[in-house]
Amino acid sequence: MAQQYKAPRGTFDILPEDWPYWNYVISKAREIAEIYGYREIETPIFESTSLFVRGVGEGTDIVDKEMYSFEDKGKTDLTLRPEFTAGVMRAYVEHGMHTKPQPVKLFSIGPLFRYERPQAGRFREFHQFNVEAIGSQDPALDFEIMSMAWQFLEELGFKGLSFQVNSTGCPKCRPGYVKALKEYYMQHYDEICEDDKRRLERNPLRVLDCKNPKCQPVIANAPRITDYLCDECREHFEALRRYLDAAGKRYTVNHRLVRGLDYYTKTVFEVWAEGIGAQNAVCGGGRYDGLVEEIGGPPTPGVGFAVGLERVVMMLKSQGVKVPDAPSPSVFVAYLGNQAKDEAVMLAQKLRAHHIPTVLSFGKRGLKGQLRNANRWGVKYAVILGEEEIERGQVTVREMSSGEQVQVGREELLGWLEERLNG
Ligand code: ATP
Ligand code: MG
Repeated sequence: MAQQYKAPRGTFDILPEDWPYWNYVISKAREIAEIYGYREIETPIFESTSLFVRGVGEGTDIVDKEMYSFEDKGKTDLTLRPEFTAGVMRAYVEHGMHTKPQPVKLFSIGPLFRYERPQAGRFREFHQFNVEAIGSQDPALDFEIMSMAWQFLEELGFKGLSFQVNSTGCPKCRPGYVKALKEYYMQHYDEICEDDKRRLERNPLRVLDCKNPKCQPVIANAPRITDYLCDECREHFEALRRYLDAAGKRYTVNHRLVRGLDYYTKTVFEVWAEGIGAQNAVCGGGRYDGLVEEIGGPPTPGVGFAVGLERVVMMLKSQGVKVPDAPSPSVFVAYLGNQAKDEAVMLAQKLRAHHIPTVLSFGKRGLKGQLRNANRWGVKYAVILGEEEIERGQVTVREMSSGEQVQVGREELLGWLEERLNG
């Protein structure tokens, strides 16, 4: 037997019946981006492997375990993008966007690739709405980014939104905290998992978001970074919290929220929604003032967020949010007999040329079967051509909802339909 193909593990087809959800989410993303003054950028789906190694960072799960990397036929090392930010920053530098008014505000929508263990809400190909604001240190920009993520999710119908927020300091103050954290962890070395022991070497802050149950009591009593911030980072965090308070946004300072790499600075946040816990955040973001330098550009601050669209679509479905239906065609063209068919084929084409959404009957079927098909398509009118109609230079038009039928002259049909459909 021939091989039966399936979509590769961790990937899925977005079928026609799913598109009303996806279109709703994508058009909401574009709408929100416009309201906040963000413009679209599309970067390649693959980039130099080293861009991600530097831009995402060695010691992260993404770089260590999850990248789809390959050598192409020209022996160039490439990687399917596992996230947007590195590519967008590469484009910012490559196109000299620092000469534009700052901050430069950009968004992208598209697929990403991570070799993860597939499970609910976790795939190997997934999609994000990703937003970056580049070139300003102002905490008002962190607030803008967070508000944008919130408004996007709120307008999609998510309930019980709240922020988790933290500051991860900067290369000036973070080392003091990392030292204290390591000392604390060394005192509890027997109580932590093997992964954490490795993290302590490579990326110590990451011990704080370890999901292993065994490590939870250790995490709960760990020193907190907010007690170690330098003046600049503390003031930045205070300003952000002032804005959040003034806007009446619910937030929790979550000491476990970290990024763990030197170019992630100051703000980190997640948006949580009712029914979605820490394991399943829909949106994550933060500031990365050292990232552009890390990938070879001039020192440039930046802040952004990414929302996982699969998780958004899952939530919309599970909360029963109504999304606009895919539009149905307006007209179904039916025929009886060979001569009528020839004319029907041309008539459907003429209606489409005039932008009347039209579907045509195919094959040889009785009128009943064809009308049943018209019903399934959800059209407003069925136009029926039979031998008799053709002789008289007419067509029968059936209004599907009432079943009422009228005779319309062949020459008048286009105007007749346009009047009723566009009127
Ligand atoms: P998680 O903790 O769930 O692994 P993350 O920290 O890896 O998330 P980010 O890299 O910050 O996530 O990406 C932002 C968002 O992208 C996440 O909040 C989530 O909605 C989505 N996302 C991340 N990885 C996947 C995946 N493998 N499949 C589907 N969505 C994903
Ligand atoms: Mg992850």
